[in-house]
Amino acid sequence: MKTLIVVLSIALLGMVTMFPLGCARENEAEVFSEYGFSFKYPSGFVVSDEGLEGQANSESSGRILVTTEENSTRFEMLVLTWSSPSPEEGWGTSDKVLWDHFQTTVADCRQTWEEDGYSSVMIGGTALESSSGHSMLYVYYEFTSPTDSERYQGTIGETYCDESGRLFEFVTCGSFVASTTDAELFLLVFSTSLVCH
Ligand SMILES: [Zn+2]
Repeated sequence: MKTLIVVLSIALLGMVTMFPLGCARENEAEVFSEYGFSFKYPSGFVVSDEGLEGQANSESSGRILVTTEENSTRFEMLVLTWSSPSPEEGWGTSDKVLWDHFQTTVADCRQTWEEDGYSSVMIGGTALESSSGHSMLYVYYEFTSPTDSERYQGTIGETYCDESGRLFEFVTCGSFVASTTDAELFLLVFSTSLVCH
C-alpha cells in the first residue's frame, strides 16, 4: 500500500503548475482489456503500465495508471492494483477478510498522508457496491496537498474476485467540482464495469 501512495504523491507533484478545474463527465468510454480482466474508462484518458514492486504486470499481479492527458485543464487519476493473496490468508472464505483488509488499507492511507504532510485529511464512512458480482468496499476522502496547497478528493476501493483469486484495489484522486458525487461516480465508471473472471 505504501508504494501506491508514493505513486499518488508523485502524480500530484506533477500537477503543481496546473489548474485542476474539473468538468462535466464525458459519456464516451473506452475499454481496457489485458491481464485477464477488463474495465471501462472515460475516453481521452491515458492508460500506462506501472508494474508492482519492480515486477512487470502479469495476470497475477500488477499496477496501471489511468490519468487525464498531461496538458489537460483538469486532473483526475485512477491507480489500479491487483494481486493474488495466498489462500492461507483466508481470502475467498468470507467478506470479513475483505472488510478487515480494507479497514487496514484506509488506516494506512491516512497515516501515510499525514506523515507526508497532507493536511486536513477527511475520510468518509465505508460504502458497499457490487463489482462484477463481488462486494466492493470503498470510502470517499479529501486532503490538502502539501505540494500545491490544493484540495483534492478521491476514493479508495477494494474488491476480491474469488473466481480468479485476485484482489483489486482502486485509488482515485482528482479535483472534482461536486466533490463527493463526482468522485464516487468517477470510481464507479471503473469498478462497476470490471470484468474480473
Ligand atoms: Zn471476478
